[in-house]
Amino acid sequence: MQLTVFLGAPGSGKGTQAKKLTQHDHFIHLSTGDILRSAIKEGTPLGVEAKKFMDHGELVPDTTMIGLIQETLKNLAPHQHVILDGFPRTVAQAEALEAQSTTKIRSAVLFEIADDLLVERLTGRRVCKQCGQPYHVRHMRPQHEGKCDACGSEVVQRSDDTESVVKRRLEVFHSQNKGLVDFYSKKGNLKRVNANQAPEKIQNLLMELLA
Ligand code: AMP
Repeated sequence: MQLTVFLGAPGSGKGTQAKKLTQHDHFIHLSTGDILRSAIKEGTPLGVEAKKFMDHGELVPDTTMIGLIQETLKNLAPHQHVILDGFPRTVAQAEALEAQSTTKIRSAVLFEIADDLLVERLTGRRVCKQCGQPYHVRHMRPQHEGKCDACGSEVVQRSDDTESVVKRRLEVFHSQNKGLVDFYSKKGNLKRVNANQAPEKIQNLLMELLA
């Protein structure tokens, strides 16, 4: 199985770009944040554990996350190209992923963008409760206030997109990111993308990088 990992701060556009890539058949988007949010919604033991960390902008412990990703990757078909969005977030997770014999990491793409832009993006972000479609209070409002254009469900703010939690999430990101960048640079497969440009432009760049 081919793997590309997306690295970058929360709000840097990893999820949006990964979702767009799935319009091409062979790409699969796997977001550990989405998996954890579904587990919370369903009230599973994983969800109960994860919520304690997520509500405060902290990382869910490595042992839990590594177990989760190993289990999830096991169930995917070998011909697929998986875009991992939100994993790895620590060097321990990156090492565990490297040790998986069935996966080959093609590249790690780092989405680069300044923090002040991220705070505005994240605190203004709203998402559909049902399908996850993202919106923004200023730049991308749904046609009918509070209702998703795609599925009609309620559009809400993620509980970890409040200002204080966003600031903590960014601190946590910076405390781990350098280690990950060094890890993939040493392996020679780090690619950088300027994440402060039009989404269509970023998508085109990614298509070239991942071809
Ligand atoms: P995201 O949707 O990727 O911003 O993730 C939301 C939250 O889920 C993070 O702030 C963490 O609490 C948790 N999370 C997601 N992926 C991981 C991971 N690989 N390791 C630890 N915690 C994670």
